[in-house]
Formats: sequence, C-alpha cells, structure tokens
Amino acid sequence: MAVPLMQAVRVGSYVVKQHLKRREKYPLVLMLEPLLRCNLACSGCGKIDYPAEILNQRLSVQECLDADAECGAPVVAVAGGEPLLHKEMPQIIEGLIARKRYVYLCTNGLLLEKKIDDYKPSPFFSWDIHLDGDKSMHDASVCQQGVYDRAVAAIKLAKSKGFRVSINCTLFDNADPYRVAAFFDSVMELGVDGIMTAPGYAYERAPDQEHFLNRQNTKKLFREIFRLGKGHKWRFTQSPLFLNFLAGNEQYHCTPWGKPLRTVFGWQRPCYLLGEGYAPTFEALMNETQWDQYGTGNYEKCANCMVHSGYEATAVKDAIKRPWHIAQVALTGPKVEGVMAPEIDLSQQRQAKYDYNEQVAELMKKLPKDSVKKRTAVRRVKKVAVQEA
Ligand code: SF4
Repeated sequence: MAVPLMQAVRVGSYVVKQHLKRREKYPLVLMLEPLLRCNLACSGCGKIDYPAEILNQRLSVQECLDADAECGAPVVAVAGGEPLLHKEMPQIIEGLIARKRYVYLCTNGLLLEKKIDDYKPSPFFSWDIHLDGDKSMHDASVCQQGVYDRAVAAIKLAKSKGFRVSINCTLFDNADPYRVAAFFDSVMELGVDGIMTAPGYAYERAPDQEHFLNRQNTKKLFREIFRLGKGHKWRFTQSPLFLNFLAGNEQYHCTPWGKPLRTVFGWQRPCYLLGEGYAPTFEALMNETQWDQYGTGNYEKCANCMVHSGYEATAVKDAIKRPWHIAQVALTGPKVEGVMAPEIDLSQQRQAKYDYNEQVAELMKKLPKDSVKKRTAVRRVKKVAVQEA
C-alpha cells in the first residue's frame, strides 16, 4: 500500500467528520513553502522567478507551526524552493510530527545525504523525492546533468536508513508513455513506497512555455501509461479516482481550497499553483476568496489544469459520495479505453490577468526593511547561499 493503513484511516475519518459537520470547504493537505529559494532552476518551474530579497525570506519554525494550527489538515506537504536549504527544517518537521501530522518533505535530493541524519524515520514522515522520469528525462527537466543519479542515490540511502520514500513525477508533453512506464517499474524496484504523478501546471513564469500538456493530451498520455501499467504493481499515493480523472474518465471541477498554500507572504490565493494575491490568515483565505472565479471553465489560467492541487480533493469528495465507484476503480484501475467524460465548457471563462510586476512590487514592500539593503551582499554570497541558506 502506498499510504500506510493508519494514515488512510485517519485521513478518511477526518474527511467523514468534515462531512458530518456539514463543513462545505475544508483542507485536506496543508502545502507549506517555508522558502522559495532553490538550488536548481527547472525548466517547468514557476516558483523561483523572484528577486533575491524575496528568495531569501524564510518562514520561522513558529510560523510554520502556527500555519499548521490554523489550517488543521491531517497531511502537510513541505515544498518550496528546496526545503533542505532551510536551516530550521528539522525542527519544523519534528514539530509537525509531534502533532501527528502526516508529513511529506519534498526535495530534489541534492542535499539529502548531507542532511539525512537530522531526521528520524517515523510512520508520520516521508521523503518525497522529485524525479520527472528516467535519467535523460529528469536531467533535461531540471536542466542539469547528474541530478537523476543523485536523486536515486538519495532514495537508496533513505530506504537503507528505514525512511518512507515516495517520488513526485511531473510530466510534460514530450513524455513517452513507454519510457514513463519503464521508469515507474524502475522506481518500484528501488523500493519506493509510492508514486505521485501529475501533468505540469503551465506556470506563466516557467522558463519553458512550450512543453506544458493541454487537457486532451494529458488524458491520452495517462490512459496510455495506465494501459501499459496493467498487471504492474505500481503504488500511487493518490486516490484511484484522481488517477481515473487523469485518464479522462471523470468530469471533475476544481476544489482549490483542498490544498491551501502558506508561503513567506501569507496564504496564497487561490491555490498552490496560481498566485493571485495573499490572505493574512487561513480564515480570511477560506472566507474571503472568490472561489467561483477559479477552476477550469471559470478562468483562463485554469483552462489546462489537471493537477492534484485542485482535483485530488474533488476525487476524495467523490469517494465519500460514491464509495462503490472508488471501490470499483481501485479494483480494476483507471479505464483506458472507450469514450472519455465530457470536457468542461471553456466558453464562459474570464480572461487571464497578468500582474506579476505589480505583485512583486507589492511583495517587496512587505519585506523587512533590512532585507532590501542586503541586496548587494546577498549577490556576492549567492553561491554560498545556494549551498545552505
Ligand atoms: S484549476 Fe484549480 S488547482 Fe488548477 S490552477 Fe486553477 S484554481 Fe489552481
């Protein structure tokens, strides 16, 4: 099982409780980005194109724990940037585990060997290693040779020390389903506990704008991958219904509040992928965001999105409504033939708003005064900062 039984039971009972309380909007996974600085610059990443002053900001241990308390989701995914560049990451993880949160620490693995002894194996903790395919796929995706080998070495090391390890695989329109299938086989052979996969979101600030998948191609790609995977024992950390959605068999609408994101600037509106402003508190995010402005069919920037950030929570809600359906898909796997579910109508979606420069100017105003003055010094020590901020 990709997710341990106890975790599945706890998360399941949390979801059922929210439904019994008739809570319409509730978080499933807290996405925590305690920093935006990274030690890679991947072609499909839209998270790190900020001035150094912003990249040098950190959430403190207390801010991370406060975000967790505000949100209350049973699962926390710590991402970034590269979380292992944060000096206080071990204390953040320890604090979350002490609260019995199921924590996924998302990392590219480059610093794992150096940092691994700062962490202890726990049923509440899993490394989540970024791997976008086999050696040539992954190294091309992260724009650096040798990163795949180091990520694989990190997986082996973490497994040898008794940690749970999953991989996080983002696919683009140049993915060959046969290679992806062979890659999934290879990570299973490495002993990873689970695979999380999704199409890349078309970040407007990503360096490579040519290889994002549209919805039609996403569905065709995943159908083909799942067809090749029949009979293989791939363990996914995602809901069977989300996988069925990727294969074009569910007409789901986005649930953007399912995976709320806390960054160094507050709670990002509306979701992990799309930054259209920040709320000061989790409550303000949930109550004051105009949710119906977002999601496929509502907004141009959401038109091609099929990412778990918005659709995994929809799949979970569907599982509560139709338990027999999830049971059937779990048994047979996603449907890989026949007519797909109808696509969402895009004719009424509102136009995209592009205000990156205004947003950055606004964010810069919020920075502590001394961090702007440090700009020159920061540039001089940039290389060192990348090794360990
Ligand atoms: S569809 Fe949902 S998850 Fe995707 S970018 Fe839009 S709001 Fe975010």
